[in-house]
Amino acid sequence: MPISKKRYIIIGAGASGLHLAIQMAKSTFFRNFEIIILEKNQKNKADKTWSFWEKGNGKWDHITKKQWDLGDIYAQGKRVEMQLKPYRYKTISSLAFYNEAKKILSTHDNILWKQEEVKTVEPKSAEVLVTTDSTTYLADYVFDSRLPDINRIKSQDKNLIYQHFLGWEIETKNPVFDSNCFTMMDYRIKDGETTSFTYVLPFSANRALIEFTYFSPTIVSTKVYEEHLKKYINQILQPKDYTLIDIEKGVIPMSTFPFENDHLPLVQKIGTAGGWVKASTGYSFKNAEKKSLEIVTLMTKGISPKKIKSPLKYRHYDDIFLNVLHEKNHLGEEVFFKLYGKNNIQTLFRFLDDESSFFDDLKIISSVTSMGFIKAFGNHLKSL
Ligand SMILES: Cc1cc2nc3c(=O)[nH]c(=O)nc-3n(C[C@H](O)[C@H](O)[C@H](O)COP(=O)(O)OP(=O)(O)OC[C@H]3O[C@@H](n4cnc5c(N)ncnc54)[C@H](O)[C@@H]3O)c2cc1C
Repeated sequence: MPISKKRYIIIGAGASGLHLAIQMAKSTFFRNFEIIILEKNQKNKADKTWSFWEKGNGKWDHITKKQWDLGDIYAQGKRVEMQLKPYRYKTISSLAFYNEAKKILSTHDNILWKQEEVKTVEPKSAEVLVTTDSTTYLADYVFDSRLPDINRIKSQDKNLIYQHFLGWEIETKNPVFDSNCFTMMDYRIKDGETTSFTYVLPFSANRALIEFTYFSPTIVSTKVYEEHLKKYINQILQPKDYTLIDIEKGVIPMSTFPFENDHLPLVQKIGTAGGWVKASTGYSFKNAEKKSLEIVTLMTKGISPKKIKSPLKYRHYDDIFLNVLHEKNHLGEEVFFKLYGKNNIQTLFRFLDDESSFFDDLKIISSVTSMGFIKAFGNHLKSL
């Protein structure tokens, strides 16, 4: 088996691996290093729809499928409207992002993208041995987006819940969507007492992605999501007829599991595997971009990339929040209604982006304070 010396290896060409590779490609610091991306799949299919918020124009605008200045949530029998400016909510098809990344990276001779499945990663004294299904590489440093075994997360995180959903992109015969306004959460159709809702991304008056979503400790069967999607279409949207265009399914662990403990010498976990998913929301596309820039900035300064920031206070907030959803899943609708209804969305976005001030935090925490929350806060303090 050939052994060749390489500098940086990125395992996985998903959101985190590609954001990181693109940031490295942009920096002159890495021009003389070899960067190898090892990805087991072809990445030629749209497997996810990534949405995120950011202020004004952004660097992915040319590949976004749609952007909104307006959003809403339906909860507790009311509609809360959210004027997002200066933020915009944006959606990208993962395929557009993979293609864009391939285009950018192909213009850099020092970056190689190989379709290989990584089997083992073994740190040696000064390098890391990475073995794939066809080759063995030596790397100076490895960024690894492979997920840990979910059972290990389960055994260590007593509050583990999942954001799990089935999405249908549908086209309706008559116009039923307001294409200017996306729906973050609609609780008018729910599965019993669970925290479950519909998320709607309207691309036009006749076309939208609608996802029946749970934030809950247990996954349900496909049939259950389908039943709720049908209910939402028939009872809320009421189109004359519709066609199913595409399907998206996902399970995202919402966990404050200490993913960073899985780093090894010269091996850094990134993406979902590195704890880059915001535990209380399941969002990470934008965070992966932010963290990748942070990594590259640290490396160009000769600082270990493992020193990226992970403010402890947000982990505590996420812990409290997840404890409530885990122990009292029926409270989700009320908590989110208060969260979105009593705070301005700009403050909330800062909070969810881990960029809020102490006063923002106080305001947000007091807005959702209920007996469930106070108990969870007590439980959390006891566990510290
Ligand atoms: C359906 C879905 C929708 C989502 N929507 C949003 C959203 O709207 N907004 C948002 O912010 N977040 C969203 N997320 C959460 C999160 O942003 C994504 O999961 C994101 O893709 C995580 O990035 P990642 O790099 O950690 O993992 P991935 O993007 O999954 O990338 C990991 C890559 O590693 C590869 N790989 C795995 N094992 C090996 C191996 N042994 N060898 C080589 N390659 C390997 C995989 O093939 C994959 O390409 C969504 C998640 C899902 C599942």
